[in-house]
Amino acid sequence: MRILVIGGAGYIGSHVTRAFLDKGYDVTVFDNLQTGFRENLFEEANFVHGDIMRPEQLGAVMAGGYDGCVHLAALKAAGQSMLHPAEYSHANISGTINVLNHASAAKISPIIFSSSAAVYGSPQYLPVDENHPKDPENFYGFTKLEIERLLDWYDRLKGMRYAAIRYFNAAGYDVQERIKGLELNPENLLPIMMEVAVGIRPKLSIFGDDYPTRDGSGIRDYVHVSDLAEAHVSAFEYILKQKKSLTVNLGSQAGVSVIEMLERARVITGRKIPAEVTHRRAGDPAELVASSGKALELLGWVPKYSDVDTLVSTTWKMYEKYVIR
Ligand code: UDP
Repeated sequence: MRILVIGGAGYIGSHVTRAFLDKGYDVTVFDNLQTGFRENLFEEANFVHGDIMRPEQLGAVMAGGYDGCVHLAALKAAGQSMLHPAEYSHANISGTINVLNHASAAKISPIIFSSSAAVYGSPQYLPVDENHPKDPENFYGFTKLEIERLLDWYDRLKGMRYAAIRYFNAAGYDVQERIKGLELNPENLLPIMMEVAVGIRPKLSIFGDDYPTRDGSGIRDYVHVSDLAEAHVSAFEYILKQKKSLTVNLGSQAGVSVIEMLERARVITGRKIPAEVTHRRAGDPAELVASSGKALELLGWVPKYSDVDTLVSTTWKMYEKYVIR
């Protein structure tokens, strides 16, 4: 089976590529290498250097014929999306329209799409299931929701099947250490903590310790990127068999607070990781935890690596290997 992974050189994309390769698929990665890394390309996969904003390049690669496509190419910084909405609508929405139109012309279906828990906005109840109201708090989440709606229309009008996979907080790295590209300028908690551990940043800012949570800091649902990656393969196989689209949350269903993560990171890294409590970050809910019951029921998905220690230790290994020399 031939799979096209658009954005396959990025952080999640490289793990997704690995998961398909591990299951014996023939994989082609299409990436503009803007935020993806050449080091993340695997010998066993084909690589096409191209951009979803260049329709002729998409047309050329898709003419190769594929049994499905995973689309992960996007801008993903929620804070930045509020400052630069034009860039986000262009890259995420217009870029995906290009992907869908070319996939439809080349009769490539299903499309496995990277969506996000950001489509829900502030939780009205916990854990957040797929039926929770969708009211994004940031423009990034809005772009993901609009794309989900487009996918639904392409399904209805063109018979293009899709999986919209709503990630909660993706973290960690391949336990077998086969991924070599470390994300630069991280905006997420765990890599920021690692940058403090190695001295790239002087200290961690804990964004608020006065939330109504067990220790006052924000609680999130961290899910290991290899667990996410496997679910893409399962979603693809589900659609082939069932011939219908699906939308699922992927989270570990376990809430971890900023302070709990910090304490484990200090133990696992053996580093001090200085931290200070600062003001809350705008738009941050106190707690966000997924219900992943649907992924378990339909895909048989059970996270294997999403415990705090594996999340921290696999991330730390990357920093030890590529940052501390
Ligand atoms: N956070 C923090 N300091 C940081 C970055 C994040 O305290 O430097 C907190 C943030 O307020 C949230 C959690 O860590 O409670 C996860 O934030 P992240 O930006 O990684 O993901 P988000 O949940 O915002 O998508």
